[in-house]
Amino acid sequence: MKKTRTRFAPSPTGYMHIGNLRTAIFEYLIAKKDNGDFILRIEDTDQTRKVEGAIDFIYDTLSLCRFKIDEGPNNEGEYGPYIQSERIDIYKKHALELVEKGAAYYCFCTEERLDKLREVASLNKQAFMYDGHCRNLSKEEVDEMLAKGVPYVIRQAMPKTGETIVSDVVYGDIVINNSVLEDQILIKSDGYPTYNFANVIDDHLMNITHVVRGKEYLDQTAKYNLLYDAFGWEKPEYVHVAMVLGEDGSKLSKRNGDASFMDLYNEGYLPDAIVNYLVLLGWSPETNQEVFSMDELINAFDPKRISKSSSQYDVKKLNWFNAQYIKRLSMDDYFDFVLPFLKDAYNLDEKSDEWIHHLVSIYQNHISYGKEIVNEVKIFFEDDITLDEECLSFMKQDGVNDTLKAFKEEIEAISDWNVDSISIAINNVKEKAGVKGKMLYMPIRIAVSGVMHGPELPDTIYLLGKEKVLKRL
Ligand code: GLU
Repeated sequence: MKKTRTRFAPSPTGYMHIGNLRTAIFEYLIAKKDNGDFILRIEDTDQTRKVEGAIDFIYDTLSLCRFKIDEGPNNEGEYGPYIQSERIDIYKKHALELVEKGAAYYCFCTEERLDKLREVASLNKQAFMYDGHCRNLSKEEVDEMLAKGVPYVIRQAMPKTGETIVSDVVYGDIVINNSVLEDQILIKSDGYPTYNFANVIDDHLMNITHVVRGKEYLDQTAKYNLLYDAFGWEKPEYVHVAMVLGEDGSKLSKRNGDASFMDLYNEGYLPDAIVNYLVLLGWSPETNQEVFSMDELINAFDPKRISKSSSQYDVKKLNWFNAQYIKRLSMDDYFDFVLPFLKDAYNLDEKSDEWIHHLVSIYQNHISYGKEIVNEVKIFFEDDITLDEECLSFMKQDGVNDTLKAFKEEIEAISDWNVDSISIAINNVKEKAGVKGKMLYMPIRIAVSGVMHGPELPDTIYLLGKEKVLKRL
């Protein structure tokens, strides 16, 4: 049996939206479930989209997600090069082989001629389809044009009758009428292959067994199958996946910034949580388990359970997953994770390590992404607080002043400033002022922190410090 090999084949745009990443996840899981290989191939035949450093960016992204790339441009295996622009000769050689076999042909049609055809098609309200003008040129005619150096492309000669069947793991068998297939370009006039040609050559030569890609390629796959047949090659398994749409139901794009993996990462979303969230976006396990370790995912993953319909990115759900993962971090890992966000936002020079640890620890069960802590801890860094309407009207109630007066006396009397002594002080206020529950805690909370909700009151008071608390009172 062939070793399972899947490939992730992004264009080097320096940007990975979560839809691309989800494809990589599916590919990775299919490979690893069979102890197979996961390959990275860079599809850069459209050189205009190329961005400096994009390959390292893809390596970094996949490594953050804990996907080991078994072969790729930075760790070549036996099937290199892994960058399409370095494989130009390979595509050309194979295109010529097809010309030899009569499955492809040289086309010398000028842009002007093609523009005219496009115009006519548009006047007739028809989709443009190349008319096969050069398909029947004689060998002599072709040789003459080539000798003269006339620019050309190489096109695939499609059968005009019959049907081609595409078998897909997710969508089943799809029957395509050959008459709708255009004689597509395989090699462009600049000598570069089209995606439609390069993907077939590479997938075959790299021994890829499973091709996972966007559903938008499904209809094209009949043309790929005809190429495999023309070469006499075995076809891979196809796994076409429906799109991930943005929160507003539109297609994900670079402009929709928050759908990029790196943006999420920089906001404090944990890669493990992103992966866990994404895999369930369009795939469902047999059980109703939601939080999966990588090993559990590899075990549970079955591409047959990928959904046929598109799924919608949902930040709330992602936040839920991320919060689960934050809660599960060890104290040390959690600290390393949130500290950079704090350091970025506040000057911590005068804060002790103990204070910083205490501060962040009380938020581990409350934040759903790393950067969220910045806003949450604001009350500990501001000098002045202003009360909103709701707080003000609460503070106008009878008895509030007496509670605060008693509280102030208790605080002043504390000699050993710690959470326990503060808890005792609050308890004493309860006795002295004869209040309890909300009427005890809320006036104190509002007076010291300026807000009605927050972490445990004794921790809050402790972290604010005696001086600040008395000043606010
Ligand atoms: N370069 C293609 C893309 O980014 C890959 C499609 C495929 O995986 O075959 O959409």
